[in-house]
Amino acid sequence: MTTSGTGSIAPSERVTDYTTRFRTFLDTEVAPLEEDLARRGVGTAWQPHLDEAGRMHRDVWEARREVQRRSAAAGLYNPHIRADLGGGGFSRVEMQHVEEFVYRNAGLGLGLAALAWTEGANPAIEHVSDAARERYLDPLMAGEVTAAFANTEPAVGTDVLAMSTHARRDGSDWIINGHKAWITNAHFADFVQIVAVTEPGAGTRSLSMFLVDADAPGFVRGRDIPTMLADGLTGELELTDVRVPAENVVGEIGDGFALAMSWINWRRLCRGGMCAGWGSWLLDRAISRARSRTSGGRPIADLQAVQHLLADMDADVYAARSASLVAQAELDELGPFGIPLHRDAPRLISLVKVINDEAFYRVTDNAVQVHGAAGLLLGSPEEKLFRVARNLKIPAGTVEIQRNAVARGLLRETAASR
Ligand SMILES: Cc1cc2nc3c(=O)[nH]c(=O)nc-3n(C[C@H](O)[C@H](O)[C@H](O)COP(=O)(O)OP(=O)(O)OC[C@H]3O[C@@H](n4cnc5c(N)ncnc54)[C@H](O)[C@@H]3O)c2cc1C
Repeated sequence: MTTSGTGSIAPSERVTDYTTRFRTFLDTEVAPLEEDLARRGVGTAWQPHLDEAGRMHRDVWEARREVQRRSAAAGLYNPHIRADLGGGGFSRVEMQHVEEFVYRNAGLGLGLAALAWTEGANPAIEHVSDAARERYLDPLMAGEVTAAFANTEPAVGTDVLAMSTHARRDGSDWIINGHKAWITNAHFADFVQIVAVTEPGAGTRSLSMFLVDADAPGFVRGRDIPTMLADGLTGELELTDVRVPAENVVGEIGDGFALAMSWINWRRLCRGGMCAGWGSWLLDRAISRARSRTSGGRPIADLQAVQHLLADMDADVYAARSASLVAQAELDELGPFGIPLHRDAPRLISLVKVINDEAFYRVTDNAVQVHGAAGLLLGSPEEKLFRVARNLKIPAGTVEIQRNAVARGLLRETAASR
C-alpha cells in the first residue's frame, strides 16, 4: 500500500511491535488498575464521579496517573516525540496506526491514558531550552508530572491573536499577567504552557510561549468549567505578576503563535486514529447489538433499515480513515509540525480534522440509533461517544476554521498555478 509520491501508509514493523506490547500492557498493567477502580465505586476513566468542585474524582485521576507512569516505564507513553529527546520518533502515519489501535482496544477505559494526550509531551514543548528540558520535558515524558496548554481566554478563542494575556521583560525574567479559560487539565497540571503577547501589533510574531509552574506565586487555578464531556478536567487559570525565568521561554520570543499551532495541529492530526479506532469499536458493538436484538422474532440485523445504518457507519469510518492516512503520509513529507510550517501543510491538517470530526459525529449518531433506547442510556459507550463527537467539532479549532484553512490553501494553490 503506497500513496502517490509519498511514503507507505501500511503499518511499519515498529508499529506492530508497539501495538503488540500495548496489547500486553492493557492486559497485565491496566486491567488490574481498572478492577481496583471499579471496586472503589468512584466511576470510571470516562465516566468519573466528580468532587464537590466538579473536578474528576481524585482516585480516578490517580489511576490515570499510575497508567501514565507505567506506560512511560514500558516505553509506550511517547511514541510521537522526537527520538533524540527520548521519544519513539514515530511518523504521523505510524502514529495514526498507533492511535487507531489504542482507541479501538482501550475503548473508553483507563488504557487511553497510556498514550500521551493533552496533559503529556507534545510537539511544541520539544523546543524547550536544555535547562528546561531537564526540569519539565524529561519528568513529563517519564509520567512524573502533567502539563496543560493555555491559549484560549474568556473573550478569545478562535481569534488567537486578539488575546490579552501578556508578558513583559524584567531583567532576564518575564512577568506574566492574564486570564485563561477552557483549559484541559487546569486543575491538576504541574506546569502550564502559557501563550502570551510579548510584542503587541507584531501579528503572528506577537506571541511567545512560556513554561509556568502551577505553584508559582501569582498563579491561581480559577473556576471549574463543567462541559458536556462531564470529565471534570476543564477550568480557568489566572496569572497575576507571575515571574518566569528566560530559560522557561519555549523556542524564541515571537515563536508563540507557531508553537501554539504546532500543539493544536498535533491534536488535529490525532483525530485520524482516534475516530478510526473509536469508530471501528462502535461499529463492532453495533453489529453485535444488531445480531442479538430481535424484532418480530428476528434479529434486527436482518432488517434493511438497520443494515443501512451499519453500512453508513462503515462508509464513514472507511472514508475518514483512508483520507487521514493519505494526508498523514503527505504531511510526513512536509514536516507536520515544522517551524516555519510548510505552506502546503495547513490545508492537509485541516482536512484531517474536518473530515474526521464530521464523519465521527455521524458514526456516533448511527451507533445510538442502532442501540435504540439503550444507546441513550447515560454513561453507555454510545451515549458518551455521541457527546464526545459533538465536542470534537469545537476544540483545536472549530470545523468552520478548518474550512477556512482548506479554502485558503486551495485559493493559494490555484493563484500560484495561473
Ligand atoms: C472541552 C474543551 C477543552 C478545551 N481545551 C483547551 C485547552 O486545553 N487549551 C486551550 O487553549 N483551549 C482549549 N479549549 C478551547 C477551544 O480551543 C476553543 O473553544 C475553540 O478554539 C473555539 O473558540 P471559542 O469557543 O471561543 O469559539 P468562538 O471563537 O467564539 O467561535 C464561535 C463560532 O464562531 C465561528 N467563528 C469564529 N471566528 C470565525 C472565523 N474567523 N471564521 C469562521 N467562523 C468563525 C466559530 O467557528 C464558531 O462556530 C477547549 C474547549 C473545550 C470545549
